[in-house]
Amino acid sequence: MVWEIRCGPWSRIQHLNDNAEELEELRQQRRLALREMTDTILELNKLDCHFLLENPWGTDSWEQDELKPIFQLDGVQLRKGSMCNFGLRGKDGLLLRKDTGWCSDLPRVLDAVALPCNGAHQHELCLGGNAKHAQIYTKKLCRAVIDGLKAESSNNVAMSVSASMWRPMTSGLLHEVL
Ligand SMILES: [Zn+2]
Repeated sequence: MVWEIRCGPWSRIQHLNDNAEELEELRQQRRLALREMTDTILELNKLDCHFLLENPWGTDSWEQDELKPIFQLDGVQLRKGSMCNFGLRGKDGLLLRKDTGWCSDLPRVLDAVALPCNGAHQHELCLGGNAKHAQIYTKKLCRAVIDGLKAESSNNVAMSVSASMWRPMTSGLLHEVL
């Protein structure tokens, strides 16, 4: 199962001007969504199912109490990657760094996607006019996820994987159920 946590309420930049009360209410709603996601992952874990979570690196969402039970599952790690490594580009055609947190109980999938930028190229700023561009999952990223899953399946994780099972979407909480 692949999940993108909705990052809006956790983003510091996006909410600099919001009223504190409204922001807290929004965050309460998101906490409920995180709790539901965690409950689903825990249930699926009992059935030997695996997961991959994605959210911007450094946002508060990773520190929420609702996610803690996930981090207590066997083999779960949170690692940092950068979307520029998968060809994510902004409106001016340059790479977007977009540092991203990846959390999974599948180490080979993390090996494939959690690749931090080596700084060997130019970036555009990942702000304002680039918000839509930054939400895209590139084909190269999708391929990396599939390759990671294939590496897991050759390591005795029973899995049926095909490229069509990962359908990139630019919005919505649940990307795809494997
Ligand atoms: Zn880069």
